[in-house]
Amino acid sequence: VTMRVAVVGAGVSGLTALKCCLDEGLAATCFERSEDIGGLWRYAENIEDGRPSLYASVVSNTSKEMSAFSDFPYPEDFPVFVPHARLLEYLRRYAERFALRQHIQLGVSEEGNGGRDGAARGAAGSLGHDSFRQTTVLSVRKRPDFATTGQWDVVTEAGGTRTSHVFDAVMVCSGNFWDPSLPLYAFPGIEKFQGKYFHSRQYKHPDVFQGKRVLVVGMGNSGVDIAVEASRVAAKVTICTGRGAWVISRVFDHGYPWDMVFNTRFMSLIRNSLPGPLARGLVSYRVNQWFKHENYGLQLEKRYFSEPVLNDDLPSYIITGKITIKPGVKEFKENSVVFYSCPEEEPIDIVVFCTGYNVSFPFLEEADVKVENKHASLYKYVFPTHLQRPTLAVLGLIKPLGAIMPVTEMQARWVTRVFKGRRLMPVSPHPIFCNSLRFGLLFDEVLKTDCLVYSDELASFIGAKPSVLALLFSDPKLAFTIFFGPCTPYQFRLQGPGQWDGARQAILTQWDRTLKPTRTRVTSGSSSVWPSLLSVFGFLLLVVAVVFGF
Ligand code: FAD
Repeated sequence: VTMRVAVVGAGVSGLTALKCCLDEGLAATCFERSEDIGGLWRYAENIEDGRPSLYASVVSNTSKEMSAFSDFPYPEDFPVFVPHARLLEYLRRYAERFALRQHIQLGVSEEGNGGRDGAARGAAGSLGHDSFRQTTVLSVRKRPDFATTGQWDVVTEAGGTRTSHVFDAVMVCSGNFWDPSLPLYAFPGIEKFQGKYFHSRQYKHPDVFQGKRVLVVGMGNSGVDIAVEASRVAAKVTICTGRGAWVISRVFDHGYPWDMVFNTRFMSLIRNSLPGPLARGLVSYRVNQWFKHENYGLQLEKRYFSEPVLNDDLPSYIITGKITIKPGVKEFKENSVVFYSCPEEEPIDIVVFCTGYNVSFPFLEEADVKVENKHASLYKYVFPTHLQRPTLAVLGLIKPLGAIMPVTEMQARWVTRVFKGRRLMPVSPHPIFCNSLRFGLLFDEVLKTDCLVYSDELASFIGAKPSVLALLFSDPKLAFTIFFGPCTPYQFRLQGPGQWDGARQAILTQWDRTLKPTRTRVTSGSSSVWPSLLSVFGFLLLVVAVVFGF
């Protein structure tokens, strides 16, 4: 009997979860509450309940080669960092290429027979874009015989009609950027503040800041983006941060994308082999090469490790006086703000709280996935630790230091193998109950995971981790590219289940696709002997690294 899987959400995680189910021959149905696929990357002018909301200018901060699904490279003419509309276009092409749309449960169809026969209809129905209807998953509950069957009751609502389904497994791909965290209690005096304030989720265009004195609270990617945009029209812009942040540019060493330089196996080996303080020192040295963070008021408080902020403009906006950095807010007054260790008040008209998001799963029982104080018990950030059967998986609940797409795809590949019983957890006999120390999940701190180490680990569970050592003898050119080059997702399609014939070629042409959209004026350049010399040196280094690293 084919296993029936429900996928909640049709964003990045839901689409790849659906595709991995189909690859494994599972009967999957994806439920999407909004009118189209794409999740966060489907920009809308209005803010929809329960859905992420982007600002109009969002451009990905991870490069296209590093953000691709592992068997579907971006087209070569797409820019290296992708504006939201192009990223959505990529997701649409992915859905089309792997015929995913017909498995997305659309609720009430034009004929009005919508969704009553759940999974069966999901596979058969083939509705085009125009007839897309939203289906919200209202609840996912264990069936009474869960201990033996692992099955779930799933209730959906579409066009006012509720429908019950039974599924053998559920993949939760509902995202974690839709429930804004706005801890006003942490800002004394906010109730008397006469100006305007809102959460970054509500921000769309900079015209609201025209001529105003703006305060941005928080220094994540969105906060800095918003401050930079605001400073083009505002009278004054201040960012306040208690922790500081590492700021790095998308345009990294020699103009290459930051993540293609940073996320290589070679660099990862160095980072993870060095003692903690030395590794941190190295990172600090590297990020301070662009500009000395201390001189720009951005240095990190010592006790914090912070996800880097990707912004190409911030230092130049600080040095030209368009943006000022201040410590955390001590108190709000009627028309001004007092910062810690600053005697003078700062007059402010508008405050944007870039204070992040809560993680919640309103359709799940708290006992199944309990999120408490930003902590949940999920084995490898995916499987709840205390269920008798591993038939519930949470995807995309991770903040890797790099692109989330290939990581969530790897989660989906592993999960679908676990569902099929082909690959159980790596520890036995009752893996989901053992070793609770490794199960913890602290969204803000622990989740800034080295995505390469994490992806390698999941890949090794399903036999898809590339073997650099074996390749060194059979295909040294590929081994060299894999070890020293960017760890692009195609590396995980060279072997094992879901092996893709195009993987080798995709790896060897990754720089061509990267350079194509920017090398638009080619001159008759002179060739140099340096690249070949470097290759020889790199090969020797690879041999040394393999001997000492594996
Ligand atoms: P989402 O994209 O949020 O999709 C979840 C889907 O589930 C939505 O369509 C929602 O409607 C649906 N849903 C939710 N609840 C239900 C329900 N009950 N029933 C049915 N459907 C439901 N990551 C990167 O890798 N690179 C980047 O450059 C990058 N930039 C970012 C910039 C910003 C401003 C933000 C906020 C995030 C960024 N991210 C980036 C992270 C981003 O979250 C991921 O790229 C990715 O979009 C996550 O996909 P997802 O499918 O997990 O969640």
